[in-house]
Amino acid sequence: MRGVIMKSARDVRVEDVEEPRIIESTDAVISLTATCICGSDLWPYRGIEPVDNQPMGHEYVGIVKEIGDAVTTVAPGDFVVGSFCLSDGTCEICTAGYPSRCANGGFMSGSQAQKVRVPLADGTLVKTPGMPDPDLIPSLLAASDVLGTGWFGAVAAESGPGKTVAVVGDGAVGLMAILAAKQLGAERIIAMSRHESRQKLAREFGATDIVEERGDAGVAKIKELTNGYGAHSVVEAVGTQESMLQAIHSTRPGGHVGFVGVSHDVEIPGGDLFFSEVHLFGGPAPVRRFLPELIKLIWERKINPGKVFDLTLPLEDAAEGYKAMDERRAIKVLLKP
Ligand SMILES: [Zn+2]
Repeated sequence: MRGVIMKSARDVRVEDVEEPRIIESTDAVISLTATCICGSDLWPYRGIEPVDNQPMGHEYVGIVKEIGDAVTTVAPGDFVVGSFCLSDGTCEICTAGYPSRCANGGFMSGSQAQKVRVPLADGTLVKTPGMPDPDLIPSLLAASDVLGTGWFGAVAAESGPGKTVAVVGDGAVGLMAILAAKQLGAERIIAMSRHESRQKLAREFGATDIVEERGDAGVAKIKELTNGYGAHSVVEAVGTQESMLQAIHSTRPGGHVGFVGVSHDVEIPGGDLFFSEVHLFGGPAPVRRFLPELIKLIWERKINPGKVFDLTLPLEDAAEGYKAMDERRAIKVLLKP
């Protein structure tokens, strides 16, 4: 079987790897219909996180091939979407709605391949109502992480009717947060982006305003657009010091920041935290909680998050996919096993 291995920073190869098999009775093995490269895969690619012969990939849709004896909710032949976080669905954290921090869970890996083993299948996978039409597959794949993560950002920021929502970050997650804010009924959605193609997609997904400025200038612009108050809701979808402070400072007192960009050395000065008087909530997105609703919206063609994939390549060309995302030539790359 073929699978993507990151040997070291900037060295991505597609190699013959061992076929996955059932190890625990709660496992499923799925044959991948589509997989993709995540913005978070760029951190090790760029040498910002350590990497050593890592099987890559945590986003996936496909057909169940085999299940362990204890699996009851999916069966061979089912088309499934799974979260990038593994969860049992039964512990107190899962049942409270936070499967991404399941007491017995972990993170998915190795899905940039032809097949993958999914541990805790019952609590991690959701089957679709039937075999999807081919044009729905990119959207279902997006639900696995990037849509679910943007959705959580919008929910954590308390997006809703009457609210002005600002989104910091025009990567795939930021764009999905815009789509989510629109679905959640936000009145005004401000995309912070300086790239024309991404601005265009942001508007398609529901952005009403674009702010090109960053840092303090970006904050000033958000204030200017909101009678000096700041946005009610701000989604932080980058994970850097600058983007986090931009998000906090763009939020009005009493407002909410939903942060879903994986934090890299972010430190919030106490004075900023204290006097901004905002709600801060975020972390790894509990995608599994949202999957049934997201699958339904996609199945009924009410949302089209699959548009976020602007490059599709065969799995064998994964290295070019990483390069295209690293150089920002592509927003998000879909890989066909
Ligand atoms: Zn759990």
